[in-house]
Amino acid sequence: MSDIKNLSLFRDLPYINGKWVDCAKTVDVINPASDSVIGSVGCASVQQAKEAILCAEQAFYSWRETTAKNRSLILRRWYDLIMKNQKQLAKILTVEMGKPFDDAMGEIAYGASFIEWFSEEAKRVYGDVIPSYATNQRSLVIKQPVGVVGAITPWNFPNAMIARKIAPALAVGCSVVLKPAISTPYSALALAQLGEQAGIPAGVFNVITGDANKLGAELCSNPIVRKLTFTGSTSVGKTLIKQCADTVKKVSMELGGNAPSIVFEDADVDHAVQEIMISKFRNSGQTCVCTNRIYVHESILDEFVSKFSDAVKGLKIGNGMEKGTQQGPLINKKAMKDVHKIVKDAVKQGASLVLGGKSHSLGHSFYEPTILCDLKQDMDIAKQEIFGPVAPIFSFSDEQDVINKANDTEYGLASYFYSRDIGKIWRVSEKLDYGMVSVNSGILSSETIPFGGVKQSGTGREGSKYGTDDYTVIKHINMSGI
Ligand code: NAP
Repeated sequence: MSDIKNLSLFRDLPYINGKWVDCAKTVDVINPASDSVIGSVGCASVQQAKEAILCAEQAFYSWRETTAKNRSLILRRWYDLIMKNQKQLAKILTVEMGKPFDDAMGEIAYGASFIEWFSEEAKRVYGDVIPSYATNQRSLVIKQPVGVVGAITPWNFPNAMIARKIAPALAVGCSVVLKPAISTPYSALALAQLGEQAGIPAGVFNVITGDANKLGAELCSNPIVRKLTFTGSTSVGKTLIKQCADTVKKVSMELGGNAPSIVFEDADVDHAVQEIMISKFRNSGQTCVCTNRIYVHESILDEFVSKFSDAVKGLKIGNGMEKGTQQGPLINKKAMKDVHKIVKDAVKQGASLVLGGKSHSLGHSFYEPTILCDLKQDMDIAKQEIFGPVAPIFSFSDEQDVINKANDTEYGLASYFYSRDIGKIWRVSEKLDYGMVSVNSGILSSETIPFGGVKQSGTGREGSKYGTDDYTVIKHINMSGI
């Protein structure tokens, strides 16, 4: 059931200039639900990374000359192929990453939606004509592809985080060298295979799997790479920004989060419980936009905790390939230990454990869905990105006070709140210091909206009509003698 090696989309070597290249070294890839080895994947050397960048540069010169319509058609074919192979891609994803199969199916469709969207946006990268300051002069603005793009992506959305970057890059005429997370390489390589079938020319999209430090350093320091786009932790993002400084690259950073979910006294509590269940426990709490702190008005605290606990008790934990599983394992044992430490420290600092609080009887890296109460803003748990199935519940009594608490973090990615008061909805939406605010919904992401953060959650936006901006540069053309 968990064997993916026989699937036609299974590839285990880096993809450079349209070829699957042999490597001197390999590394094992583990199924987190069983701790068993799925297979091994080739580790590209730094020399192979340099070759991939050079090939991407050569491919860029011809790719950028193709018409927007041509690029659009290729991306559209890629979208169609991904959707045709949705089940196979989802199986690869579940086996290497652990998320439930139905969620993996959802991620494949979500990732594909960016390819579909940017196949359409490819044709809409408009310029400007600026009213002239002189009678014999005209000023034009055109948007051009930035050049070779280096992309580094995480394991928590092994398909969608790639699609969200590659689609706008290719749409505007850039070429890409991608380094996916080493724990989830197969989803990335399967995408490359379908890209080739869709007609993406050799060298336009390259995937190098292997040592993150070495390959990352090459992508950041190589002067041919003109743009680095990264999704991952804030600490690694800071390192990459520093490494990109010497060659002054354009950078996009989709980094960590510490999302508050605020439940005001006028909220529909049943609806808030339902939505926070999604935003907290999706992907076992391993998403950058996962609710990380729940603030509940003191007048409805008991009702909320009771209903939320009932909902959490109903979660079905298990291997993602088993029917009905709602929550899979964490990505590895280290992640499980890190989450457990956060819980233990919170309890030591005075939190009370309502549910869970320990590794799950299924073993491996499974962790029990956990609820903590009696929390204070100065506890460590209020500041950390938990990245696991742990729901800390704080209480509050005052609107401005809870806004201050929600903003009391170095992060600024997603935020959520629940209220039926239109005045409050406007006030709170404007005051939350986040790139994204979701009112009365635990889901905020789609290909149509600008996804991204402020503060130490990063720079740049993915998706929407703004999504191509990160991959273009603005050129002013001055025309005189008219
Ligand atoms: P991570 O440790 O920062 O890793 C992300 C990527 O960076 C992986 O490909 C990793 O490679 C690579 N990497 C690690 N160290 C590197 C280095 N020194 N140089 C170059 N590359 C390096 O993050 P993660 O644990 O995989 O992902 C979870 C984090 O991502 C969370 O903080 C989450 O909030 C964030 N995230 C943000 C968004 C967003 O849109 N804002 C979306 C999803 C996730 P290896 O895996 O091969 O080591």
